[in-house]
Amino acid sequence: MLLAQSLKDLFYPPLCLSCKQWLIKGESSLCFACLSQLPETRYTIDTKNPVAQILWGRIPLKYACSFLIFNQLNRTHDILHNIKYKGNKELAKYLGKHYATTYLKQLELLKIDEIIPIPLHPRKKRIRGFNQAEYFAQGMAEILQCICNTGGLKRRSFTTTQTKKSRAERWENVREVFICPTPELANKNILLVDDVITTGATLESAALALLKKKPKSIGVITLAFAND
Ligand SMILES: [Zn+2]
Repeated sequence: MLLAQSLKDLFYPPLCLSCKQWLIKGESSLCFACLSQLPETRYTIDTKNPVAQILWGRIPLKYACSFLIFNQLNRTHDILHNIKYKGNKELAKYLGKHYATTYLKQLELLKIDEIIPIPLHPRKKRIRGFNQAEYFAQGMAEILQCICNTGGLKRRSFTTTQTKKSRAERWENVREVFICPTPELANKNILLVDDVITTGATLESAALALLKKKPKSIGVITLAFAND
């Protein structure tokens, strides 16, 4: 097995998933140069950072945080493009592991029982083939040694005619995008994970669905934070 891997590396040397330079010994997925230049938010995982402030007063959260700052010009943009459009799901998983390893002490204090990634719309998942939030969540779960419940939330389908509903009902319908098929989450500390937070509307809607199952707590972590 080791020999096979060595031969594979000889003929197909592993490349950095971001800059495509050959990786050297000790590097995996991203080279040290790319890793050191990740535009990290460096926020502490709490209720006071700018990510938590987006959701503040909208849903009862224990904490909220993001790993990377996203804008159209920085490295996070290239990384997300690489994951989403070049199918680089291993990069999403690697970043989940890297984030959880870097912030392990803070994360362990949260005593997370279950990580639930925001599901993609089934149509989008069919086109893309995978859900990047799921891979980021799996990477985190591996390091934190907790469950990654990829079926914890489902998107509702809106095939029923909207026109027959009142305006208030339609609004409720839009707000309630997700359902939580898990019978109960009582006494569980749930971490809700997504790829990017912008307005927080998706996370708010997902957290509302989870709250109905009365978890002990809900927190939010995203791979990136689009702050402009
Ligand atoms: Zn690189």
